[in-house]
Amino acid sequence: MPKPRTCEMCGARKLKRRSTTYPLILPGQQINVGRVQVDECAECGHLMPTPAGQDKLQRCLHVFSGMLDIPRKS
Ligand SMILES: [Zn+2]
Repeated sequence: MPKPRTCEMCGARKLKRRSTTYPLILPGQQINVGRVQVDECAECGHLMPTPAGQDKLQRCLHVFSGMLDIPRKS
């Protein structure tokens, strides 16, 4: 069941849901994934992807890690 989310950084409960460009950090490089759904902390600005946003990041990660031939845990 859904529980109220709090900021991972500062613990604030004021989170704004929006779509933004989210940087995906890979070994040796960074990929900016567009229009990822995130909860943004109103206090400190920390971005936390929502479950839908995480799904999108995971898909992008699979595509890019395949292209870059990064070893994956099996
Ligand atoms: Zn915060």
